Amino acid sequence: MSELVMLIEDEKEIRDLVRYNLEKAGYRVAAAADGEEGLRQLFASRPDALVLDLMLPGMNGLEIVRELRSEPLTHDLPILVLTARSAEMDKLLGFEQGADDYLTKPFSPRELVARVRSLLRRTKPSGVRALEAGPLRVDLDAHEASCAGARLDLTPREFDLLAFLARHPGRALSRDELLRKVWGYDYVGETRTVDVHVRRLRAKLGDHHEIIETVLGAGYKLVAPAPAEDA
Ligand code: CA
Repeated sequence: MSELVMLIEDEKEIRDLVRYNLEKAGYRVAAAADGEEGLRQLFASRPDALVLDLMLPGMNGLEIVRELRSEPLTHDLPILVLTARSAEMDKLLGFEQGADDYLTKPFSPRELVARVRSLLRRTKPSGVRALEAGPLRVDLDAHEASCAGARLDLTPREFDLLAFLARHPGRALSRDELLRKVWGYDYVGETRTVDVHVRRLRAKLGDHHEIIETVLGAGYKLVAPAPAEDA
C-alpha cells in the first residue's frame, strides 16, 4: 500500500492543490482544515508524514508540532511545515519545535512533492517495528500482537489500546488520556469505554491478564515483569 500523507491546511485551494499533486505522485492523502480535526485523524490513521500549515484557526501549527513531538506515537513523524512568505520567525520556531522541513508559500507543487518524498525516504523505518513488554509482543507494522508466544485475536481498537499501553510500560495512564490518544483527539465518549476495552483485553490475555494493572484513582498501566529466570 502506498504511503499515507496527512495534510492540515485551512485554505481549501491549497488543500486541493497539495492533495491533487501528492495523489498524482502516488501517495494516499488524508486532509483536515484545522488542528483539532487533524490531530484526531492523525492519531486514528497513523500517517507516514504530515504536511502542516502553521497559520490555522484554533490550535496553530506550532502547537500541533509540539504536541506531536511529545507523543511516543508521533514522536518521529516526519513533518513538513508550510509558512507564509518571508515569515522567518515561523520557520525558526517551527524547527525549534521539531519540524523536519519547511516550505514557503507560494510554493511549486513539484517542489512540495520532492520535499515530501525526501522526508519519507530519510525517515524510512529500519527493520520491524515491534514493542516488547514482559510476555507481550506488539508488531506495529503487521498490526499483530502475541502474549507468551500465542497470537492474540484483537479488534483494531483493542490492538491500538494494547500498543499504546505497551509503549508506556510502568506508567499510569488516565482514562481521559487513553480516550484522547487511542480513540482520537477529541473523541467524545464516556471513560467507561476504556474500562470495557480493558476488560476485553484482559480476557484475551488469559493467564497474563494481570499485566494490565488498575491504578486506583488514576487509570491503567502495563506492568512488564522481568522475564522469569529459567532453571
Ligand atoms: Ca493558513
